[in-house]
Parts: sequence; C-alpha cells; structure tokens
Amino acid sequence: MFKESRFFCPYCGEENITDIDISAGKTQEFIHDCEVCCRPVEIKLTIDRDGNVFVETKNDEGF
Ligand SMILES: [Zn+2]
Repeated sequence: MFKESRFFCPYCGEENITDIDISAGKTQEFIHDCEVCCRPVEIKLTIDRDGNVFVETKNDEGF
C-alpha cells in the first residue's frame, strides 16, 4: 500500500513528494535525491497505527 508523502529538502528548502510503501514497516529509512537540487536527502519515516506518516529529514552533515 502506497501513500504520498511530502517533505522539505534540507539543502534547498524545496518541497518534494515521494511515494512510500506504508506496508513495508513502521519505521523506514531511505535516501531520496532532491528533485530540485539532486542532493541526497536522508529520510526517516515513522508510521503510527492509524497510518499517519511522520517524516524526518537529514542532510549528509546530520541536520
Ligand atoms: Zn533540494
């Protein structure tokens, strides 16, 4: 089951949209290259039992 999720790039601040597979686990980490500046954004997802998705982003310096 896929759900659209939005996050802001920690490098350039632009909004990105990614499809996440919410059936793949309650916590997920992956890299999504920013669609605007093409830099690798580290994404950590937490999905609660109601299916709400919380997105944390990090750049390669840990912010
Ligand atoms: Zn960016």
